[in-house]
Amino acid sequence: MTTWCLENPWLTFLLLLIAADAVTTRFSWNRKKELLQKDMRIRELEEILCPCEQHDWIAARYETDSDGKATRIMMCRRCKKEKETEGV
Ligand SMILES: [Zn+2]
Repeated sequence: MTTWCLENPWLTFLLLLIAADAVTTRFSWNRKKELLQKDMRIRELEEILCPCEQHDWIAARYETDSDGKATRIMMCRRCKKEKETEGV
């Protein structure tokens, strides 16, 4: 390291923090970016099939959890997007 860095403890601390952060979060950051890109792609395709979120919802199936609460799963006829609706 250069002398200016040693002369400034705060900067040294900050640089170490950035370096440590870069090592620990690099992989998860790449993964996050990948997921974000996929998410954006899905949104794009949805927008083409159902502009302005004008989905054509139809009841696809019913799901009951361990408490016996029924959840209706709605599916869009065009883009196959799913959403949950509580109650029947
Ligand atoms: Zn749709």
